Amino acid sequence: MPNVERLRGRAGQAQRTRRLARTDGLCERCDGKGRVTLATVVDHIVPLANGGTDEDDNTRNLCDPCHLEVGVEQFGHQVTREGRGVGRNGRPTSPDHPWNQPHRT
Ligand SMILES: [Zn+2]
Repeated sequence: MPNVERLRGRAGQAQRTRRLARTDGLCERCDGKGRVTLATVVDHIVPLANGGTDEDDNTRNLCDPCHLEVGVEQFGHQVTREGRGVGRNGRPTSPDHPWNQPHRT
């Protein structure tokens, strides 16, 4: 496991801004499909968790929907948000979903 220290605070902000400026702040995945969409996420092509580096070469600028899509490709399941997801067993992960409520008699 390489010792990758992510920049935080002001230095991290400047790094993010610089990376977004590389594609004029546009989503490069949409750009590849001829669409012009504002990027909101600087994504690591090889996730840091998988040994990717925190270098510009390993980043790409994505919009929210593209970020979710590549997350599905990389991790094989939808990234869950706010507990509104479905687990690997096909059951909802949210504790207040009706399926997860105890049966009332
Ligand atoms: Zn996009």
